[in-house]
Formats: sequence, C-alpha cells, structure tokens
Amino acid sequence: MRRNRKAKIIATLGPSTSSFKSIKKLFDLGADVFRLNFSHDIKENHIKRFKDIRNLEKKVNKPIGILMDLQGPKLRVGKFEEVSVFLKQGKKFMFDLNPSLGNKSRVCLPHEEIFKKIKKGNKILVDDGKLTLIVTKINSFYIETKVKFSGIISNNKGFNIPNLVSTNNSLTKKDKQDLKLALKLGVDWIALSFVQTAKDVKEIKKIVKNKAFILTKLEKPKALKNLNEIIDVSDAIMIARGDLGIEAPLENLPGEQKKIITACRQAGKPVVVATQMLDSMVNFPTPTRAEASDVATAIYDGADALMLSAETAIGNYPNESIQMMDKIIVKVESDPLYLNINEASHVKAESTAEDAITESAKYVARTMSAKAVVTYTTSGSTALRAARERPDVPIMGISPNLNTARRLSLVWGVHCIHTSDAKSFKDMVLKAGRLAKKEKFAKQGDHVVITAGVPFGQSGATNVLRIASVDRY
Ligand code: PGA
Ligand code: MN
Repeated sequence: MRRNRKAKIIATLGPSTSSFKSIKKLFDLGADVFRLNFSHDIKENHIKRFKDIRNLEKKVNKPIGILMDLQGPKLRVGKFEEVSVFLKQGKKFMFDLNPSLGNKSRVCLPHEEIFKKIKKGNKILVDDGKLTLIVTKINSFYIETKVKFSGIISNNKGFNIPNLVSTNNSLTKKDKQDLKLALKLGVDWIALSFVQTAKDVKEIKKIVKNKAFILTKLEKPKALKNLNEIIDVSDAIMIARGDLGIEAPLENLPGEQKKIITACRQAGKPVVVATQMLDSMVNFPTPTRAEASDVATAIYDGADALMLSAETAIGNYPNESIQMMDKIIVKVESDPLYLNINEASHVKAESTAEDAITESAKYVARTMSAKAVVTYTTSGSTALRAARERPDVPIMGISPNLNTARRLSLVWGVHCIHTSDAKSFKDMVLKAGRLAKKEKFAKQGDHVVITAGVPFGQSGATNVLRIASVDRY
C-alpha cells in the first residue's frame, strides 16, 4: 500500500489509541511511524503496543517504524484522582512530595531537588505553558502557588520553571531502564530528549551501537548553539517545539524551525517538526486555521516528517487528526509553489559516487518521465542521499535488511520495501519493475530509474544507474 505524499506522519500512541484495531486504523489513514512516549504510561502498555505494531506490519506487509521516546530529565507532576483538574485564576495550589493521587488543591511533584532550588515569586509553567502559577511559599515539604492564568492540569504533565532549573542531560535511571527495554524489544528509532551537545548523542550511541537509529530532540537553547555538531552525530533531528518554546523565547521558534530544517536538509539528515501541530483537535474534529497553516508551513519549509502527540495519544479525534494532516500534506505537495521552493532549495551534491548517482537519478527520472527512483540500499545510506535530492517522483527504498526498511519509514519520499537482494543485474531490473507495479507506482511500459551497488549482496558504495522499462511480468 502506497501513500500519495512524500512527507511522513508520526503518530504518538496512548490511551486513545491502544487497541490493535485503533493502531491499524491510524496506519490505514496515514501514520507511517508510531511513537511510544516513555514519559507516560506503564511499561506493559508500551510492550503491548510494540507487539501490536509488529503484528500489524506482518498483516499489511509493509515495514513500519517504531520510535521510542525517552523521557530525559524532564520534571513532571504525579497523577490525579480525576482525569484532569481545572485550576481557576487566583486559586491556591500546592506541589508536594506526597505520592498519593492529586486533587483540586494539590499534586505530587516527585523531584525533591526542586524544593531546594525554587524561590518565592518564581513562575511555574505546566503542560508547555497551558497553566501558569506563581510561587507564594516554600519549605522542604511543599511549594505553595497561586494560579496566575487558569488552566487544566492532569496526569504526568510537564513542570517547568523557565531559567531556573538547569536540568543535567545525562540519562536518568528511568531512561537507562527504558533504553534497555527498547534494545531488547528492537525498536527502530530512539528519541533522545533535552540534548545539549554532540557528546550527549555520542554517549547514547556508544550504548545503542547500531541496534537503532538516534533521533535527537532539540528542546534546549544550548542545543541550537551546537546545531551543526549535533546534526552531524545524529541520525535524525526533531524540532521539539513544546519544550523549546518554554526554554527559548517563543518568538524565536518560527525562525529557528526554518534554520534547523535548512541545516538538516544540507546534511541529508531527516528532520521532524513536532508538537501542537493540530492541538485543538484533541477536543474538536477540525483544527484551527492557524494549525492548518502551521502543518502546511512545515511542509513548505521542507520537513521530512510531522508528528502528532496528544492529538492521537489522548485526543478525542485521533483518526480525524491523521486524516487532516494527510490531506494538508498532499495538498501542499501538489502546489506549484511548493515544487518551486523545493527546486530552489536543492542542496549541492557532494563529490561521492553515491551523491553523483542519486543526483543523476533525479534528473534522469525527470527527463524520462519515470515513475520512481528505485534504490537498492543495505544500510539505508543511499536512500537517505536520494531523499536529500528531493526528487519529483517517489523513492522506492528496497532493502534486504528489515531494520533498514523500518528506519526508512521516517524519511521524506521513501517508500520502503523489505525483500531479498538482487542476485544479478537482470534480477535487479526485473525485481524493480515488478515491485513498482505491485506497489502501484508504475504500469507496464513505464520507466523507473534504478540505483544500486554492484557486486550485489555486499554493503558498499552505490555505483550503478540503470533506466528500466517495466515489463509485463
Ligand atoms: P515531549 O517532546 O512531548 O517529550 O515533551 C516534544 C516537545 O517538547 O515538543
Ligand atoms: Mn519535550
């Protein structure tokens, strides 16, 4: 089954989308990658969702990426008796160390160190700033606050004091346990939260080795200062606008988004735009006009993938959110203005065989009106370079390595296929044609442009470009 768009959709799973049936529905409607957010929920639920996705993959016979998101050193409140509590402006509210369930007047803040650092007059932002409180009194057992702007607080929402708490960025005890589970399960992507330097990424890579790709979340101003070094050592980047919008001035965010996307495009690293993309769809079946425009802008900016968070995890309209996002992306990608921007933002190929061939493939496909660029890729690297070219036609990323195929599900324009490697030149051509037909990219008599590395069966540089016409068989 193929998508009618190049940019991808990542859907976060949660209580709204926990059954096999609802995960399948999200996939059918357009989710390409599923995110298991380890900031929430118990391990057992994540394991169940992981297994459901792998079963779904078998059923639909299409590699599906699984992204596990490590919580990192983020402060979060405890759980509540009710699902959520509305706090009115002017009311008192306490944060304490009592692990019992929260209510209208208090909740647990399970971070003892904060009680020493916080000061009277400090501003507290809950849930990326949806609720603002001011500290009025503190001792070692509780923090008393007054609600400055009314809002809702609920289970495990983020707790942030701008400019006060300098969270350290090493893996927490919970992260280490979750990471162990991730490697045992065999997730495809691991998202690392609150990265500040390239060293943070290198450390996790030492543990993960090659077992998963690392997606670095940019949500600290310091990370923006080390942008290029971080991109260099990461496999992909997420613009985590929720925390970034708290930690850095909000008015900087739109410009930063464009800057980060441009830098990632230059490096050929996939880039994800995340958080609040269709946020009002948590409660309503249609988004605000501003949200529709935001989704479109991220595509015009050149993002590889867009992410849905609360919309699909806890929202009332997860299916409608995916459908909406899908429709907006499809629309933008057919806009001549988008195609012009895409062309104008083309990044120069580097002088490697891989780039020379993938760049040529793009232009040969254009000249021949070919229907797809077919890339035989073992590690995924050629498919990534092909995506960096942003060709007019889809890239069929054929890999004998299932992990590679799954990882590529996050990448712009790549339709990943897991199948055995070509055995000969003839086999390569036949296989590409058959798959192009089977996956509905081409019909008999159409052309596809193939890139591969010869000899087959060994990982190495791409060195072949072949124009093939699709046969009857
Ligand atoms: P989170 O990350 O959802 O894990 O907080 C995304 C963000 O901060 O935007
Ligand atoms: Mn975050």
